[in-house]
Amino acid sequence: MPEIERQTLSHLKQLFDARDIRPRKILGQNFLIDLNLLEYIVDEAQLTEQDVVLEIGAGTGSMTAMMAQRAGAVISVEIDPIMHQLAGEATAMFDNVSLLHCDALKNKNTFAPEVLAAVAKRLDEHPDCGLKLVANLPYVIATPVVSNLVKTDLPWRAMVVTIQWELAQRMRARRSSPHYGALSVWLQAQCRVKTLKRLPPAVFWPRPKVVSAIVKLLPDRQRKKLIGDRDFFHDFIRRLFHHRRKLLRSVLTGMYRKQLTKPEVDEILKPFSFSPSARAEELDVKTLVNLSAAFFAALEVTEKTNDT
Ligand code: SAH
Repeated sequence: MPEIERQTLSHLKQLFDARDIRPRKILGQNFLIDLNLLEYIVDEAQLTEQDVVLEIGAGTGSMTAMMAQRAGAVISVEIDPIMHQLAGEATAMFDNVSLLHCDALKNKNTFAPEVLAAVAKRLDEHPDCGLKLVANLPYVIATPVVSNLVKTDLPWRAMVVTIQWELAQRMRARRSSPHYGALSVWLQAQCRVKTLKRLPPAVFWPRPKVVSAIVKLLPDRQRKKLIGDRDFFHDFIRRLFHHRRKLLRSVLTGMYRKQLTKPEVDEILKPFSFSPSARAEELDVKTLVNLSAAFFAALEVTEKTNDT
């Protein structure tokens, strides 16, 4: 097995000094310097030859190299040209690593086309393989990266990622918690979300200002099936939680005022037997999935009636 560089604080400092470079804060460059944690993340991903790994933020390529030893292939994206080069050097001995030098996102709602193309190509060539996102994510794009992957129809099997603690709280929050929002509902309606570890700033170099977390997301196809139209659901919960503390009935009446009358909204709400003071933030994920489906069905009927 090839010898790979161990990412320790002294190794990183040497590497950066030798090239006369500094970590770039604006790109969320906080490198994991605890080797046990790097091992832990890779172990939790349970990589096999049947896995294609997507890593966002190759950095110096240490974790990339570790994963290349265990996975069928690793596709790692890095925006910074110097990091991209360092990652290339660190993974030169592996023929199953593809390093992409680009912004991982095209915009907040979509991955860059070259990232999607590289993943699709590899999965097409190896139809028995699934996808895993394993990364110490750049924190500024952590939410869209996770959320977008869930949105795609890619056959993803697991995500093991480091993110801000506060984001982990939002991902796994339950109803009525102050952290509960559209993101919690969107993820929990189709995945199981678990916080594996809390990470103090000291495990990174340089130290970030915030506490971090390692989280694991696993797809839950049973739950996902109940959603029906996912685009509609995504839009539904985003708009609903925009007014999380307002009365549910009036938010929904406002949201669909062009398509549905107040009595029609009341008719849809009737089987739910909500209290008149119900608010979005009090509803659990299952109820929100059912509510979205009820509105989707009612709007379809209205549209059909209008068409004729
Ligand atoms: N995985 C490495 C690096 C983590 S730091 C480690 O743990 O050591 C996050 C990395 O993401 C940085 O190298 C940064 O340059 C990169 N990055 C930041 N924004 C990015 C973007 N939009 N697309 C791709 N990479 C990005």
